Amino acid sequence: MFAAIPMRIVRVGDADADILRRKAEPVVKFDESIAGLSNAMIETLEPANGIGLAAPQVGHSLAMFVVDVNKCIGASDTCRLDGRIVKIHSVCPLVAINPKITRRHGKIVSFEEGCLSLPGARGNVHRHAAVDVEFFDCSGNRHTGTFDGILSRCFQHEFDHLKGMLYTDRIERRKSTKTPKSRRRKTTAA
Ligand SMILES: [Zn+2]
Repeated sequence: MFAAIPMRIVRVGDADADILRRKAEPVVKFDESIAGLSNAMIETLEPANGIGLAAPQVGHSLAMFVVDVNKCIGASDTCRLDGRIVKIHSVCPLVAINPKITRRHGKIVSFEEGCLSLPGARGNVHRHAAVDVEFFDCSGNRHTGTFDGILSRCFQHEFDHLKGMLYTDRIERRKSTKTPKSRRRKTTAA
């Protein structure tokens, strides 16, 4: 069903780019096609040098995304998942289906983001440092987590995609001429 890997990433300006502005539909059946799409999205993320990819970005208006921030974190970095502290490396690539952000907390942090649907562009976006989240995996199991750092940032960016939002909708234009420390992370996009 998803024979072409990596999948084509829909970019702003493409003929089918309207999908990036639609609210994604919830996944109702956790079947093989959802597992296949998840795998294809993970396989697409790496050659694209991305850290996150939402289903609408590969032409499927479904409430799911994949996140893999391993290239941005240390081996000992942790997050809370299902009530336990676990290494992020053991969690990624993470597939989040029908995700929710149940609480945003911590400081509001400005960080430079990019997006695989807007190649070459970068912009500073203000977001909460931490989030409490809920999501389902490919098998339909529900998970809860508390994420901060780049994992929180990426989860929030991908979550926006499912609402038809792009990071540019939140961009901090006023400060766009400054060079933040985070510019070092030029290779990350989601
Ligand atoms: Zn994006």
